[in-house]
Amino acid sequence: MNGIAANAAAEFKIDARRIADRLDAIYECGGRDDGTHARIAYSPEDRRGREVFSEFSRRLGLSLREDPAGNLIARREGRVREPAILIGSHLDTVEDGGKYDGAYGCVAALEVAEALAAADFVTEHPIEIIVFADEEGVRFGNGMYGSSAFSGGEMSAFHDDDLDAEGVGRREVLSAFGVDVSRSGEAVRSRAGVHAFIEPHVEQGNNLNRAGHSVGVVSSIAGVLREEITIRGEANHAGATMMKDRCDALATAAVCIAKLPDLVAAHGEKYSVATVGRIDVVPNAVNVIPGLCRFTLEVRDGDEAVMERIERAFWAELARAVSASGATAERRELARHAPARMNAWVRAKIGLACAACGYDYSTLPSGAFHDALQMAKRFPTGMIFVPSVGGVSHSRMEQTRPEDLKAGAEVLLRTILELDACEGETDESI
Ligand SMILES: [Zn+2]
Repeated sequence: MNGIAANAAAEFKIDARRIADRLDAIYECGGRDDGTHARIAYSPEDRRGREVFSEFSRRLGLSLREDPAGNLIARREGRVREPAILIGSHLDTVEDGGKYDGAYGCVAALEVAEALAAADFVTEHPIEIIVFADEEGVRFGNGMYGSSAFSGGEMSAFHDDDLDAEGVGRREVLSAFGVDVSRSGEAVRSRAGVHAFIEPHVEQGNNLNRAGHSVGVVSSIAGVLREEITIRGEANHAGATMMKDRCDALATAAVCIAKLPDLVAAHGEKYSVATVGRIDVVPNAVNVIPGLCRFTLEVRDGDEAVMERIERAFWAELARAVSASGATAERRELARHAPARMNAWVRAKIGLACAACGYDYSTLPSGAFHDALQMAKRFPTGMIFVPSVGGVSHSRMEQTRPEDLKAGAEVLLRTILELDACEGETDESI
């Protein structure tokens, strides 16, 4: 009997109360003396969060292990040993973060294991729940450590001597957490050993909330390009220099920056965003015309061509502004990450699951990075979003309604059953 047929017969119960209680338990273990809650990667609170997750897993009869990159893996056996269906997210948080970012994906996966266990249902494929190490990157400034290692990604961005805020090196911090950095690459999983990977996550934006949908099917994780633009004008006396004689670097920058929203509207797509998030002015004095203005431009979209279109439109605006003011401009690229498309087979299965569970859903890109970005480079990967009330995240105010937590877990369970009933992504057309 395949998974879908069995599903029709079996009674699977997703319990919203249990999901909320587990999220509370994990949140509480991040409580600190100053009243904030956080589980910064590799901190005592992070360890406590993992212990709470492990205890839930043990009660469900899941086997537990930590891989060489510090990813915590809870496994439920299937009829075959591999390939496994992976569900995962992270338990580390930002400073004073909320209850749902990361933790929801781990808890939703536990709820699936709970529902399967209660129905005495054995899947064809084993199910592994992965708590990825250091997704947020708060400790050392760059994240997705565990998922990068697991998916065989580039580890050169992670340096053994990266320092945290206390000046302690990555090697030492990870060693105290039981991870040998020189062996983290051994966490890589073979492509053949993985049937599919799903990451359930809160949206962290306002799209689902606004659409009134309980579930989102992620189409891609937006790429990002970042550059630093330096405009050189001429510093001069702010009182003695007539307006017509000025070459004001800040006024030149301001002309282009003010046009950015219009450029995105004209050249972007529905989910395109662009931001000037940092700006420095030299000499930054009340009575000196700015001689230099340096700022960052960041553009994100699910389609690289759209990102480049917005970038080019900004450059054209910049060229017009400098030629009008007599300033000069130079650009330096800081980062360029291509968008990660979610796997079409997995996406289709999530869509089917939404329909089977009776939920309207949005298909949307993720503006934020997730472990799925790394996992998509090697494995058939999909993401299920649930709404964030008001689009608030990375904040203690972060909230997702209980009925949406439940909807996400129901869709996750159904998706797992749909995937479990397939030989693999090549076995059927979508
Ligand atoms: Zn997250």
